[in-house]
Amino acid sequence: MKFGTKAIHAGVHPDPATGAIMTPIYQTSTYVQTSPGQNKGFEYSRTHNPTRSQLQDALAALDNGKHGLAFASGMAAIDCAIKLLQPGDEVICTDDLYGGSYRLFTKVYAPYGINFHFVPMHDMTAVEAAVTERTKMIWVETPSNPLLNVIDIAAAAAVAKKAGALLVVDNTFSTPYLQNPLDLGADIIIYSLTKYMGGHSDTVMGALVVNDDELNERLAFYQNSCGGTPGPQDCFLVLRGLKTLHVRMQRHCENGRKVAEYLNAHPKVDKVFWPGLESHRNHAVAAKQMRDFGGMLSFVLKGDKQADAIAVLEKFELFTLAESLGGVESLSGHPASMTHASIPAEQRRKSGLSDSLIRLSVGIEDVEDLIADLKQAIG
Ligand SMILES: *Cc1c(COP(=O)(O)O)cnc(C)c1O
Repeated sequence: MKFGTKAIHAGVHPDPATGAIMTPIYQTSTYVQTSPGQNKGFEYSRTHNPTRSQLQDALAALDNGKHGLAFASGMAAIDCAIKLLQPGDEVICTDDLYGGSYRLFTKVYAPYGINFHFVPMHDMTAVEAAVTERTKMIWVETPSNPLLNVIDIAAAAAVAKKAGALLVVDNTFSTPYLQNPLDLGADIIIYSLTKYMGGHSDTVMGALVVNDDELNERLAFYQNSCGGTPGPQDCFLVLRGLKTLHVRMQRHCENGRKVAEYLNAHPKVDKVFWPGLESHRNHAVAAKQMRDFGGMLSFVLKGDKQADAIAVLEKFELFTLAESLGGVESLSGHPASMTHASIPAEQRRKSGLSDSLIRLSVGIEDVEDLIADLKQAIG
């Protein structure tokens, strides 16, 4: 089955009780048993809920995986994956990690004795050099946020395999429409479903997708034991969002290209970070592992002054200033003071995140209107 057909049909069945074509919102905490222990496969909704089960199956199918696990947020999904580790274990992470992941690793889990090493991953020799016998996970985010660095997933998988470590890929920016990390050798995929997968900026949710049965069992144990599970209404919203994922992503990519090309030719713009541009330093890797290049991009104005960037952000009319990304509407952001404020200034500078960087989540509006907005805001 091809991707668009899967996005609409995979994992989803007509309701057995009524024939309802859309998955009902099973708004229930518990399920009637006919005799103690006799049930229809559902006992309590933290453990299993039919709306969530259909979403989990759909997520697995979209990534050619066997198992999906849904969570109340992307961070709850990431938290669950980290629970696979023990004190003393080491994780090698990309150095321009999502700010919330950086905070979770350094402020919550480092004090429990898990050691995180942040290395630039466009060059796998740096990753190989960081491997020790305690390395248990390699943590990749590609394209990264907000610099759109692209990491070679297959190359990272080879390093992880040799090290006996799990390869985790945060695939939030790409979605399964653009790349399928399990097919490239990853062990665990992470999603913030809040972004492109839900796609309508109306719910916060997360997910893990895996192939390995034993890994799934361990993760499902933590999912149920720690309880960061989503409600059925949110699962319904993401299921509904998934049905148009391929159509939305196609338009995000088309608009992303036109916006990137416009900015790239603009006399007041110094640098554009979008992996589809041939000038992007990881363009070759992106072209190898991604089907298209997405709708996320960032840029720096000539002169690199924070005040100029803020003036542009204040003038935007369609590129609404807000955190988050991946919705149908275009958004703009200033990573240094918004999404990445929790990363210390020194660490930000080290990973090349300029204080004047503007990030855009290019939506699926008519691109002529988006370009007109850029024109009036940048001048
Ligand atoms: C938003 C985001 C997260 C966290 O997800 P939430 O749903 O906000 O908890 C993790 N990784 C990336 C790349 C993100 O953009």
